[in-house]
Amino acid sequence: MRIIILGPPGTGKGTQSRMLSEQFNIPHVSSGDILRENVAKKTDIGKKADVFMKTGQLVPDNIVVKMMTEILGKGKYKHFILDGFPRTINQAHELEHLTPIDLVINLISSEKMIMERLSGRRVCSSCKAVFHIKNMPPKKDGVCNNCNGKLIQRDDDKPETIKNRLRIYEILSDPLIFFYSQKGLLRDIDGDQPIPKIFGDVISVLKKEKLV
Ligand SMILES: [Zn+2]
Repeated sequence: MRIIILGPPGTGKGTQSRMLSEQFNIPHVSSGDILRENVAKKTDIGKKADVFMKTGQLVPDNIVVKMMTEILGKGKYKHFILDGFPRTINQAHELEHLTPIDLVINLISSEKMIMERLSGRRVCSSCKAVFHIKNMPPKKDGVCNNCNGKLIQRDDDKPETIKNRLRIYEILSDPLIFFYSQKGLLRDIDGDQPIPKIFGDVISVLKKEKLV
């Protein structure tokens, strides 16, 4: 199974990808994780990408494509769940040269739900554990359960930044969604539902397409 998971920030793409990866023992290929790994290891790609990531800009297509070509282009993965790539229509065109795709799962969430999920997120400033003021509150307000570190809100998760991230996502993903729907590969799933229910819908779609 070679699938792509699309969805705006805060819709639980990463969570769904990880759950799928565990259930079917298929690699979860997250471009965000791979980028951060490259930055940490100070590879050529990492050094180039870091300049953009530090200032909150999108990493340019040529850097991302080069990185993903190294991962997908050698036929190392027969199966995968792609998360975060392709992000632009150019990236989707490049992906065409790398590997066939069986299906694209498109998680759809309302702005209200995304706001609630992301703006309630708190991260431990010391061990990076993630909490949510409503869905997964820490035992003590503002304090990490694991290490007693101070919980902070990432700049990325502040309401104004979220709105901006959503606008950028829409602009970039509209042509992408059109591209995959024209190919007959796109399947929409309601991302406003509870996580287990979303997962159930994803599995049903995969079964219907005889991918699992
Ligand atoms: Zn902590």
